[in-house]
Amino acid sequence: MRQVTILGATGSIGLSTLDVIRRHPDRFAIYALTANSRDEDMARLCLEFRPRFAVMADHDAATRLQAALAGRAETRVLAGEDGLCEVAAAPEADTVMAAIVGGAGLPPTLAAVRAGKRVLLANKEALVMSGRLFMDAVASSGAELLPIDSEHNAIFQCLPPSRVRNLNGDGVRRILLTASGGPFRTHSAAALREVSPAEACAHPNWSMGQKISVDSATLMNKGLEMIEACWLFNARPDQIEVHVHPESIIHSMVEYVDGSVLAQLGSPDMRTPIANGLAWPERIESGVAPLDLFALGRFHFERPDLERFPCLRLAAEAFRAGGTAPALLNAANEVAVAAFLGGKLGFSDIPLIIERTLSAMTVRDADSFDTIFAEDMAARRMAAEQIERALV
Ligand code: NDP
Repeated sequence: MRQVTILGATGSIGLSTLDVIRRHPDRFAIYALTANSRDEDMARLCLEFRPRFAVMADHDAATRLQAALAGRAETRVLAGEDGLCEVAAAPEADTVMAAIVGGAGLPPTLAAVRAGKRVLLANKEALVMSGRLFMDAVASSGAELLPIDSEHNAIFQCLPPSRVRNLNGDGVRRILLTASGGPFRTHSAAALREVSPAEACAHPNWSMGQKISVDSATLMNKGLEMIEACWLFNARPDQIEVHVHPESIIHSMVEYVDGSVLAQLGSPDMRTPIANGLAWPERIESGVAPLDLFALGRFHFERPDLERFPCLRLAAEAFRAGGTAPALLNAANEVAVAAFLGGKLGFSDIPLIIERTLSAMTVRDADSFDTIFAEDMAARRMAAEQIERALV
C-alpha cells in the first residue's frame, strides 16, 4: 500500500489525483493533504480520505479547519510552510504529489526530494526556479522524480528507460514538445490587447487552475516547460522544438536518429499522467475515456508565433542566460499574471512587465537555494514596481 501526500490537494491536479486514488483503495492511502486557504474544500476532503495530517499554508484557514474537523476526524491540522515541509518529508509517506501552484511549492517539494520520496512533479515552477540545484538534490537523495506535466510524462514514456534522466545516447535525437496554442492561438496582436481574465482562463482543451491557464494563453507555460524538459532530460534547448498542435491529443514526441518518432497520445485529461506516475512502472485505470481517433479525424501542427506570444522567447532567453535568470522570469511572471487576473494589467502587458523586470535586475550565480529564494523575492518586488510604473 503506497502512502501518499498531496501538496495542493484542493487544486485541479490535487483533485484529479484524489479521483485516481479513489478508484484504487487497495493500492493507495492518503497520509497528508495540503492547501493554502480553501478550508471548506479541505474539510470535505479530510472527511472522505481521513488523512493523518492536513496542512493549511494560511494560519487562519488552519484554525477554521481545526474547528470544522473537531470531533469528526482523527486528522491533525498543521499550519504554514513548516507544516507543508514536515508532511512532505515525513518517513511514513513514500509518495508525494507536488501540485502547489507557483514558487510557493519549492520549499515543500524540495523537502520531499531531500527525504528521498517518489516525487510526482506537477509544480514545474519549482524546477524552473532552481534547475541544477534541484536536480543535484534529486541525485544525492536518490529521490524518484517522475514528471506529471502531460508533455514531460509523454516524453518520459517515449524515451528508452535508460535515457529518462539524460536523452543523449541510444539514438535519441530530440524532443518535439507539443503545445495547444491556448485560447488565443488565432487572435491578432490587437485582439490580444482586449482579452479578459475569464477568456484567458477558458482553455479550449484542458480544465486547469487559473495561473497555468493564463500561462497557456501567453505561451509562458510552454517556455516554462521547455526549461523543465532541459533539466529533467538533460536536453539542450536546440534539442527541443515546440509544435503547436491545437487538438492536444499528442502530448509530445521523441525523435530518433533512424527517423522514428515515438508519440504518446491520449485525451486531454491529467488523470492519465497522474495514474502513470502513481503506479509506475505498472499501469492502472485512471477513469479517462478511451481515445476515439475516428471521431477526431485529423491532427494539425503549426510553428509558434513568437511575435504575438513573446513569453516563449523570454523563457528561452532566461534559460540561455542561466544562473538566477529563470527564477527571476518565473517570479515576474507570477506577479504579472496575478495582476492580470486581478484586473490591474492587460494581457499584452504580461510579457512587457517580465521583460522590464529582467532588464532591471542582475543575473547572479544560482549557487544556493538561499540565493534563489532571495532573488525570487527581489524579482517579485521589482515586478510589482514595474506594474505600478506602467499604471501611472
Ligand atoms: P490550482 O490553482 O488549481 O491549485 C493550486 C493548489 O495549490 C491548491 O491546492 C492551492 O490551495 C495550493 N496553493 C496555492 N497557493 C499556495 C501557497 N502559497 N502555499 C501552499 N499551497 C498553495 O493549480 P493547478 O492544480 O492547476 O496547478 C498546480 C501545479 O501543477 C502548477 O504548478 C501547474 O503549473 C502544474 N500543472 C497543472 C496542470 C493542470 O492541468 N492543472 C497540468 C500540468 C502542470 P487553495 O485551494 O487553498 O488555494
